Amino acid sequence: MKPSKEQLQLIDKQVKRLVAGDSYYGKMYREMGLTEINSEEDFYKIPFSSKEDLRNAYPLGIQAVPDEEVVRIHSSSGTTGKPVIIPYTKKDVEDWAIMFERCYRMAGITNKDRIHITPGYGLWTAGIGFQAGCERLGAMAVPMGPGNTEKQIQMMIDLKSTVLCATSSYALLLSEEINRRGIRDQIHLTKGVIGSERWSDKMRQTIHDGLGIELFDIYGLTEIYGPGIGINCPGERAMHCFDDYLYIEIIDPVTGENVPDGEEGEIVITTLVKEGAPLLRFRTHDMSRIVPGECKCGCKYPRLDVIKGRSDDMFKIHGVNMFPSQVEEMLAKVDGATSEYRVTLAHEDDKNCDVFLLTVEGEGRVRFEDMAKNIAYVFKTYVGVTPRVTIVPVGTLPRSEKKTKRVTDYRNQEE
Ligand code: ZN
Repeated sequence: MKPSKEQLQLIDKQVKRLVAGDSYYGKMYREMGLTEINSEEDFYKIPFSSKEDLRNAYPLGIQAVPDEEVVRIHSSSGTTGKPVIIPYTKKDVEDWAIMFERCYRMAGITNKDRIHITPGYGLWTAGIGFQAGCERLGAMAVPMGPGNTEKQIQMMIDLKSTVLCATSSYALLLSEEINRRGIRDQIHLTKGVIGSERWSDKMRQTIHDGLGIELFDIYGLTEIYGPGIGINCPGERAMHCFDDYLYIEIIDPVTGENVPDGEEGEIVITTLVKEGAPLLRFRTHDMSRIVPGECKCGCKYPRLDVIKGRSDDMFKIHGVNMFPSQVEEMLAKVDGATSEYRVTLAHEDDKNCDVFLLTVEGEGRVRFEDMAKNIAYVFKTYVGVTPRVTIVPVGTLPRSEKKTKRVTDYRNQEE
């Protein structure tokens, strides 16, 4: 999807504003002679920005406004190294809430709803984003934050919460707990707004069945406002993203070249009006594609398909590149397998070869031994790699309130 004339004008403004100042990117662009954006060709001269830059600029090197205009910071830790700090102006905070309100509205949520917010508050962008959008919408926020499942469920019952905001991992945990206690009839949830990690269709189905709620995927990342920059519309899976605030490209993660609409690649985002920490051509490492054409809901915002994974989540085993989403696709073919699994990669010194260990929770309906054989067969047939499979009962693998780490690679000595 090419940048529109309006988008290019906004990007030109961003570049000029950055170059006039002394922020990390301002200096970088000035040094490379990038001072204005008058055409699509100019746009592609802008270098990609990355989390690595933000770490280099730690703590506030990317701040592009005077101190008195910054009203808040958020931070994302990531898995390695220094955290990243993103300063926000008053307008940035408002713009984020405007987008988040749009997301709720797109999901059919109104000011009559009671929104139970379980993502964390604080440095993390999640909780406060859900909250600000909710207040803007005029709905009742129940600002729980994560943890204390006992209290979560009690409040959900007493306050008759209608919307659950959670990571998919925590939604699954709550669903399992509510059903284990046999109290689903006391729960008033009708919708779930699920963010912050990619989840499989099987997991989606399990949560949908377990809580009887309509589920929505909300997209976002701390570096670009936070969650709330896009959401799917009812009945569809692709997420509408707000192109008056963001310009989205899809690139080949290896060559950095743009791919045609409809083709899969890495999402790259340019913020059009962000003030505190504008990011141009930011590499998200999230893999998806632009869904071409218009959505049948009539909404004109462009669409990103379901996030397939992260380009850095890819793991290589016996010469085959695999994404967690592929593991999930394979498990979906196997009767009795649930959405919960762990991949462990290790090096077997005796035989000097890599081993691929796969632990999967089984429903118990199908014999574990048969299931393990079936899983190994499916992988061998479709992927060409045979894992060593262990089946364990449902509830064995740890549940998480935040993101679930499903792949552990012990071959990587740095970790
Ligand atoms: Zn739509």
